[in-house]
Amino acid sequence: MSTENSNTQSGIVIIGAGLAGWHVIDAIRSKDKNIPITLVTADNGDRYHKPMLTMAISQNKRVADLVRATGIEAAEAAQITLLAHTQVSDIDAVNQKLQLTSSAQSDATAIDYEKLVLAMGAHPIFPKSLPEDLVWHVNHIERFGQLQEQLATGSQHVAIVGAGMVGTEIAEDLLKAGHKITLIDLNDAPLSQMLPPQATARITKAIESQGIEFLGGYQVTGVTRNSDDKLHVSYEPIASTSENTAVKHLEPLIVDHVIASTGLLVDDKLPTAAGVEFDRRTGIVVDALTLRTHAANIYAIGDCMSINGVACRYVAPLRAQAATIADDILENEHDGYVHKPPMIRLKNKAISVMVIGVPQPSGNWQVKTDSADELVMNLLDDKEVVSATVTIKAPTIAKA
Ligand SMILES: Cc1cc2nc3c(=O)[nH]c(=O)nc-3n(C[C@H](O)[C@H](O)[C@H](O)COP(=O)(O)OP(=O)(O)OC[C@H]3O[C@@H](n4cnc5c(N)ncnc54)[C@H](O)[C@@H]3O)c2cc1C
Repeated sequence: MSTENSNTQSGIVIIGAGLAGWHVIDAIRSKDKNIPITLVTADNGDRYHKPMLTMAISQNKRVADLVRATGIEAAEAAQITLLAHTQVSDIDAVNQKLQLTSSAQSDATAIDYEKLVLAMGAHPIFPKSLPEDLVWHVNHIERFGQLQEQLATGSQHVAIVGAGMVGTEIAEDLLKAGHKITLIDLNDAPLSQMLPPQATARITKAIESQGIEFLGGYQVTGVTRNSDDKLHVSYEPIASTSENTAVKHLEPLIVDHVIASTGLLVDDKLPTAAGVEFDRRTGIVVDALTLRTHAANIYAIGDCMSINGVACRYVAPLRAQAATIADDILENEHDGYVHKPPMIRLKNKAISVMVIGVPQPSGNWQVKTDSADELVMNLLDDKEVVSATVTIKAPTIAKA
C-alpha cells in the first residue's frame, strides 16, 4: 500500500457507478434513508441506461440526452457521498480499507468500509490484433461520446469486430445513421456463440439484406494507421470455415474506424487484492442466495459477478440482486436471491430475435416452427426438458 493522507469512516462503500452500483443505492435507500453510503467511481458517476448505446447514434441522441441525472444530482437526491473520478487501486479486506487514487489529488487516500459492494463492471477485451489506441469500444458512455463526435462529421466506413449482441446491434445502428458497415466475426454467422446455425443463418441473411457487409469466418490479424489517416484492417480466413466464406472477401479493408466488440473481462487487480474467488472471463464468485463473495462483508453485482460459474451481463436481474444485497447488508430477513435468466432480445429492427432460458450454440435444438416468417427452436436438456427457446421473426415486427 502507498501513502495515505486521510482515513474516513464511510459505512457502506460501493465501487462503480454503472447500472449495478446505482441499483444497489436505490435498493438501500428504499429501505434505509440514513445509513451512510459512499460511491467511489472512476468516471463522473452520471446515471444512464447503457443498452441505449447501441441505439443512440441513429436516433441522434447525444451523451447529454442519454444522461438521466448527473452523478452530482443523483448523489444529492440519494443523500450519498460521491467520490467521482476516483479509482479504487487496492482493497485490504482484513482491515476493511480501500486505497483510492483521484485525478484531482496527487496523493493516495484511504477509506474504511463496513460493507463493500463490488460493482465495477467488466472491461472490453482488446486482443493484440486490435490495439486499444486505434480501436473504439462501446462499453462506456464517455468513450462512446468521443466515437459519436467523430462519426457526426459525415458518412464513414466502420469495421466492427465481433458479431455478438452488441456488435450486431451497433452495426445496424450505424448503418441506419448512414455509415458503411463491415461486421467481422470468427464464426460463420452473428450470435453464433449462443444460437444454433439454423437460427443464426437467418440473422446473417437479415443483416446482409439490410446492407451490412458481413465477413463470417475471418480473424482480424492487425489494425494499422495508413499515412492518409485511414485504418488498414488485415484479416484472414479461419482455416476450418466453409469454402463459401473463405473466398468471399479478399480485398484490403480500409476503414475510418474500427470498433471492438470482442467480449468482456473482469480486471483481476481488485478481486485479487480482496482475496475473493473469481475468474477473469465469468467474474467474481458469489453465494447465489446472498450475493456475498468469499471475503467477509464484501458483495458483488453486475458485469463483474458470476452466479454458479455463469456471468449474467444483463440489466433485468439487477433490481432483484440489488434488493437482496440491500436486505443482507441491512440485516433484514430475506428469502434469498432466486436467479432467473432474463429474456434476451436483440435490438435490431431488420430481424426480431428473442431468447428465453439459457441458450448455447450446440446441443439438442429442436425445430418447433419453421416458416418464411418465423423460426422457433427449443433446446432440450438430457431429460428432454426445454432449457431455452429462440424465436426469430423477420421482418414484419421490424417495420413496427
Ligand atoms: C452497448 C451495450 C448494449 C447493451 N444492451 C443491453 C440490453 O439491451 N439489455 C440488457 O439487459 N443488457 C444490455 N447490455 C448489458 C448491460 O448494459 C450491462 O450488463 C450493465 O450495464 C452493466 O452494469 P455494471 O454497473 O455492472 O457495469 P458498468 O456499467 O461497466 O459500470 C462499472 C462502473 O465501475 C467503475 N469502475 C471500474 N473500475 C473501477 C475502479 N477500480 N475504481 C472505481 N470505479 C471503477 C466504472 O467507472 C463504472 O462506473 C448492454 C451492454 C452494452 C455495452
